[in-house]
Amino acid sequence: MRSEKMYIDGQWVDSENDETTTVYNPYNGEKIGTVPSATEADVKRAVQAAAESFESWAELPATERAGFLKKWSGLVLKHQEEIAETLTSEQGKPLAEAKGEVAGAAKSLEWNAEEAVRIYGEVIPASSKNKRIIVIKQPIGVVGAITPWNFPASMITRKIGPALAAGCTIILKPAGQTPMTAIKMVELAHEAGIPKGVINLVTGESKIISQVFMSDERIRKITFTGSTEIGKLLMEQAAETLKSISLELGGHAPLLVFEDADMGKVMAGVKSAKLRNAGQMCVAGNRFFVHKNRYEEFSEELKKLVKEEKMGNGMDPDVTIGPLIDKDAYEKVGEHVKDAVDKGAKAVMGGKGQHDGGDDAGYFYEPTILLDVTDDMIIMHEETFGPVLPVQPFTSDEEAVRKANESNYGLTAYLFTESLNRAIRVSEKLEYGVIGLNDGGPATSQAPFGGWKESGIGREGGHHGLDHFLEIKYISVGLD
Ligand code: NAP
Repeated sequence: MRSEKMYIDGQWVDSENDETTTVYNPYNGEKIGTVPSATEADVKRAVQAAAESFESWAELPATERAGFLKKWSGLVLKHQEEIAETLTSEQGKPLAEAKGEVAGAAKSLEWNAEEAVRIYGEVIPASSKNKRIIVIKQPIGVVGAITPWNFPASMITRKIGPALAAGCTIILKPAGQTPMTAIKMVELAHEAGIPKGVINLVTGESKIISQVFMSDERIRKITFTGSTEIGKLLMEQAAETLKSISLELGGHAPLLVFEDADMGKVMAGVKSAKLRNAGQMCVAGNRFFVHKNRYEEFSEELKKLVKEEKMGNGMDPDVTIGPLIDKDAYEKVGEHVKDAVDKGAKAVMGGKGQHDGGDDAGYFYEPTILLDVTDDMIIMHEETFGPVLPVQPFTSDEEAVRKANESNYGLTAYLFTESLNRAIRVSEKLEYGVIGLNDGGPATSQAPFGGWKESGIGREGGHHGLDHFLEIKYISVGLD
């Protein structure tokens, strides 16, 4: 069993009171190791370190900051296998998916390194001979980052990458269930020579950590990925010191299959948009709307696709669906399916959980296809976070769009059509921040990712994401 430490001011440290939290493998309940339970004083030290190192990091030439990020990215790739094994052991996803995630995390660091040198300002024509208008972009300051368990590597680099590129320093609080991946990633940042205090990592009770984050006025930016419920809470708390806040929150993606869709593309899209990570994704399709003339065919193809899935230990190379993260997740998925079936849905495949790992682990849910779903079912409104596919027919484009937009969430929507006209018209009508058009995996480092409505505020990825770590300064120059 590993006994890990936090990373504060360039040092690996225990918590002030030596208390720890245990991390378990969600597949078999094995104790993976312990991490420190940070006290308020520990978190304050981390904020202090980030604040003290801010000026020197911000003043470093962008090319040098980029160099550190590139080196870190290279080390992450070099240790891809080892990080992926840690990720699978604490999170449960298949190892191949974990490796893909780690590669994506490295890519995000590399992309932000390349973008660090393109933080351009502007010179705006003035209306007087004796004036000049100069606009520059500067780092926003010390950042507090809070990340979820479902993508323990990539959620971190999508925050630290742009923060460091912009010239900010950061304190990271990873999810309680998956801190080991974060620790491995930060070990490599240390090895890359990133100066002390620039990245700090604290583990433990989220309320203790976030209370310091939210109340300390030196933290000028909060970047959070997680549930809409906690996102709203943090937004309220950010008001006190008027921090900038970026929120990547829950989703309830509709996936629309039009009459002219290419069914091969649809199934590839469904596999990526629903079956990865056992459906535990903010971008997961949660409602499948299929044109009535393709409904039968879609259901049959879906059964074939789902039949190929194999549940089990993510370390087994044949496994495509790992365990759900915990008992609460398992019960939620079960409740959604039960509610749907009680209200008349037909579970034509799956429909039940499998649990044989004691209280702390082994919570599997069979990939489940639900037909005849109706709008009054919970699953049509709440994020399921499991491998359940509720399917409903539609008759017109207008109906499909209306149903897709009937949600408080607005993160990702998918549509499958071979008609250019329909593709553009429908994409424009969907009230979502990210559209997968004949594409089940739209998230990538260089594109702006984020939600409308209650799915969030701000964007991650691309130069749009980097902008959230920058302040604009306008310098009005009076000349003789
Ligand atoms: P969560 O419960 O909101 O937790 C996310 C993070 O917030 C964790 O680090 C958690 O720490 C921390 N946290 C919990 N309570 C807190 C509090 N009162 N104050 C401050 N921080 C607190 O979400 P989750 O279950 O881990 O993640 C799943 C959710 O994330 C889903 O809704 C999913 O859609 C969303 N998500 C969104 C995106 C996106 O890009 N939009 C990406 C991935 C996931 P502890 O773990 O220590 O409790």
